[in-house]
Amino acid sequence: MGVARQHGWLTSDRSNRETFSGSASTISPGPTLGRSLADDSALFSLNPVNLGCNKIYDLICKKPQVDLDPTGTVHSDEESEKEAHEIYREIIRKNPGWSPDQVDEEFVHLVYTHQNRAKIYSAFEMVKRTLNHWIDQEPEAVFTAHEKYQIKDRIKKVELQLPPPAQLYQDEPDLLTKSELLYERKTSGETALRVGGAYLLFAKSWFNIVFSLAHELGHSIDPCEIRSAGMSFPAYDRLVGCFLEHRLIALRNTRSECGGNDQLSETFADWIAVQVTAETLVNYSSHLHGSQILNAAQNSVRDLCEAEPEAPDQTDLEFHPSSKIRIEEIFGKNPKIRKFLGCDPSLDTQNYCQFVPHYPTHPGAM
Ligand SMILES: [Zn+2]
Repeated sequence: MGVARQHGWLTSDRSNRETFSGSASTISPGPTLGRSLADDSALFSLNPVNLGCNKIYDLICKKPQVDLDPTGTVHSDEESEKEAHEIYREIIRKNPGWSPDQVDEEFVHLVYTHQNRAKIYSAFEMVKRTLNHWIDQEPEAVFTAHEKYQIKDRIKKVELQLPPPAQLYQDEPDLLTKSELLYERKTSGETALRVGGAYLLFAKSWFNIVFSLAHELGHSIDPCEIRSAGMSFPAYDRLVGCFLEHRLIALRNTRSECGGNDQLSETFADWIAVQVTAETLVNYSSHLHGSQILNAAQNSVRDLCEAEPEAPDQTDLEFHPSSKIRIEEIFGKNPKIRKFLGCDPSLDTQNYCQFVPHYPTHPGAM
């Protein structure tokens, strides 16, 4: 869903499915942000025959999952939602006299464990730091100091809401068994990020968690949220122009920007998530070996794969670009991501949408 009002919240989710949780405990956080990839030519050897570099979707979605991302795997949301329902049934079976509230509380106790919560909090803080750093490093010709403050302030104000208590989600109790992440804005302007219980059962890969949280946090600063807050940034307008030019947003007669049939906010959130994932992979690359980094990169978006890519669910496409566009174009053409996939990044460097200054420093630069 793109945006929809639910119980006084404006809700925006990241995908037809959003799910994961993983153990990053085996890997310490990377020491610095923005490490140069210039010396990482060894990464190319991970994909020795450049297999699939023109078909990133196939590389991500058709390759069997191998357990070489040391932070964990990514399961299907169907699997994890089924598991969540199993847990519910088992609680009810063992405690036939319990009220629905008691059952919910026990479910939360079993699923939103300290370990699972800690992992999400940790990823959330890391994603915020990465986003702040990324915004800070943009030149004044992209964002003025005041614009940077406005953007970072919106990111800072997003509250991560994780049960217990189960009552925290009482306005949308179904979320406890869903493998979704949601960015929500109350009519009062308060913003929050919520994580479905099945997501905690499903996502074991740290990189998938990072992508998902970054997508949701990206919504807090997406062009439609910025517009709704009464702000406007010229750098956003240039970026949106690039999205349209590259068909990362479907061009439809019925499209109303930030309204019906518009994929803008979802494309932007994916694009933000890709930037954050790329920085995270840079930071972790020295801790990962061999094909681990390739698998980590693949896991970050593996849940976006479609069961039937040629016949995607049309209802998802109102607000989300197709899985092929999300994986092939927004993810797979990012120059840093391409390096981690073992693909030549140079071909696409000039064709990947980025924030650009008011006065391009290089003639013809995008
Ligand atoms: Zn979204």
